[in-house]
Amino acid sequence: MASYTEENYLKALYNLANPQGEVSISDLANSLNVSMPTANSMVKGLQKSDLVLYEKYKPVTLTPKGKKEAALVVRKHRLTEMFLVKKMGFGWEEVHEVAEQIEHIHAPKFFERMDEMLGHPTIDPHGSPIPDNQGRMQEFSYVPLSTCKPGQSVQLTALTNSSTEFLEFLNSRKLALGTELRILSREAYDLSVVVSYDSHAQETLSEKVSERLLVRILE
Ligand SMILES: [Zn+2]
Repeated sequence: MASYTEENYLKALYNLANPQGEVSISDLANSLNVSMPTANSMVKGLQKSDLVLYEKYKPVTLTPKGKKEAALVVRKHRLTEMFLVKKMGFGWEEVHEVAEQIEHIHAPKFFERMDEMLGHPTIDPHGSPIPDNQGRMQEFSYVPLSTCKPGQSVQLTALTNSSTEFLEFLNSRKLALGTELRILSREAYDLSVVVSYDSHAQETLSEKVSERLLVRILE
C-alpha cells in the first residue's frame, strides 16, 4: 500500500504527464515543492515498487500499475469534492483542500458508498472527469473559450485551473458550469473576449481567464 507521500508523487506524475506520459524530475520537484535530489530518491523508491520507469537524466513515466494507482487517488479526490458540494453544501471553491486529505484514506467501502450516494458521477464539481473504479478516465473534447469565435454560443463545461482564487473570481462574475455564453467580440489588442450570458449583457474576460474556461460549442 502506497504511503501518503508516495500517493502525492503518483498523482503529480499523473497530472503533469505530457502526451507521451513523461515528466521531468525538475517539473516533478517544482510541483511538489521539494528539491531535485529528494524527488530523485523518491522516484527510485517508486521504481522498486514497479510504479514508475526511470533512468538517470531521463524523464519519469508511470507504469500501468502506477498509472492505475494514481488514477484511483484522483478518483477519491474528485468523488470527495463532488460529495462535499452535492451532499454537504460546500462551494466549489472550498473543497480542494479537504479532498487533498480525504483522498489518502484507504477504505474502499467508504468511497464505494460515496459513489453510490452520488449516483455514480462522471465529473467533479470543476468539470474534471472522475476515473472509474478501474482507473479508467473518460476523455472529453472541450476547447478553451479563448479559441472560440465571435458569434458562437458555448456552454461552460470544465476548467483547466481550479485554484480557489480563480473559482472566487468566477463566483464574482456568476459564472458556473453549465452557463451558456455568447461570444460578442474579441479584442485584437489584448485578446480579451467580450461575452453575454444570463443577465450579463456584456462582460469582458481577459485572455488569462478565457484560456482557463473549457467549453462545448453549441452553435
Ligand atoms: Zn481538487
